[in-house]
Amino acid sequence: MRRFQNSIWVYGDYRNYFQNRVTLQLLARAVELAPEIDADVCAVIFGHSVDDFVGEYIAHGAQKVYVIDHPDLKTYSSETHAALLTHLSRRFSPEIILIGATDFGRELAPRVAKRLGTGLTADCIRLSIDDNGLLIQTAPAFGGNLLAKTVTPACRPQMATVRPGTFQELPHNDDAVGDIIPVTMPEDLPVPRARLMRSERIPKRAQRLEDAQVVVCGGRGMGSKTKFKKLFELARLLGGEVGATRPVVYSNWIAHDALVGQAGKHVHPQVLFSFGVSGAIQHTAAIADADLIVAINKNPEAPMMKMADTAIVADANQVCSSLIRELKRRIRE
Ligand SMILES: Cc1cc2nc3c(=O)[nH]c(=O)nc-3n(C[C@H](O)[C@H](O)[C@H](O)COP(=O)(O)OP(=O)(O)OC[C@H]3O[C@@H](n4cnc5c(N)ncnc54)[C@H](O)[C@@H]3O)c2cc1C
Repeated sequence: MRRFQNSIWVYGDYRNYFQNRVTLQLLARAVELAPEIDADVCAVIFGHSVDDFVGEYIAHGAQKVYVIDHPDLKTYSSETHAALLTHLSRRFSPEIILIGATDFGRELAPRVAKRLGTGLTADCIRLSIDDNGLLIQTAPAFGGNLLAKTVTPACRPQMATVRPGTFQELPHNDDAVGDIIPVTMPEDLPVPRARLMRSERIPKRAQRLEDAQVVVCGGRGMGSKTKFKKLFELARLLGGEVGATRPVVYSNWIAHDALVGQAGKHVHPQVLFSFGVSGAIQHTAAIADADLIVAINKNPEAPMMKMADTAIVADANQVCSSLIRELKRRIRE
């Protein structure tokens, strides 16, 4: 007889809860995987006054929620959360720990894996269980040119981070019941070396980029931050959201949460407009599920143009301005 019930843990990342539901998406995948290894689905949450999130996790598939609730956890600290997750993992020995590949999750997961002496696959886009009950962690490798499947046969827990938007969350179930397991804050926590001075909430999008049915994606070919701003107007007129490539995000033309690609979000809109984007694999891997792609690029040989259903060889700014003018004219009529 087994001494412990297997468990799959999902780390509760609730900071941008209404914009980023990756924890709920991971719970949904854990619910699908759990029967294959006879495991409980558990969420783990650290913070202060987090009861609402605990309820949410249960309503979205968690059978158990481990909670450390303490005033000192009011603000995030990756050092503290890493110490807490390590502590809990040593105490309760989960089989698998899944963490959202948010900025915070990406910072947290390697610290925990190192401390636990286990493996970690970052930025997974698929998770499954093999015949031996091991977690197959599939993630892009070698600059996104191939998909690597990783298993962790010897060490525990098996750890993976997963990109937001990879899985669909389960519908909210008000009738779901789960065990809440309060855990006392350990006394020997290290004092964090970094302290949060100030935080600022980025204005909420009308909808999440991952859910948008129209995505207007801009690349370096838009030319400048000022010109890039036109895409927001176009997206608004089309009822869509703006995404961007890595150089655009790195140039601070738009916030990092708009990054589409291997290191950012996967999108699956009905229509995707691609303005001044070359079409590197790290970007296109995340837009392949779009029903229709319209690319505008002055270079007809750009890979993005080859991938597009409609390829317009033109200046991206001019096409964007013309579309805005035309849409406004139609709205006025
Ligand atoms: C490990 C790793 C992870 C990465 N992850 C990501 C990721 O998640 N997302 C991502 O996007 N990238 C990612 N990258 C970077 C990626 O490889 C590309 O460098 C990036 O996608 C290119 O962005 P871009 O198309 O905007 O710029 P560029 O490659 O510079 O392309 C600009 C395009 O605009 C066109 N253009 C220029 N002027 C105009 C104009 N006036 N009108 C019309 N077209 C014009 C050009 O012909 C060109 O095709 C990653 C790279 C690595 C190594």
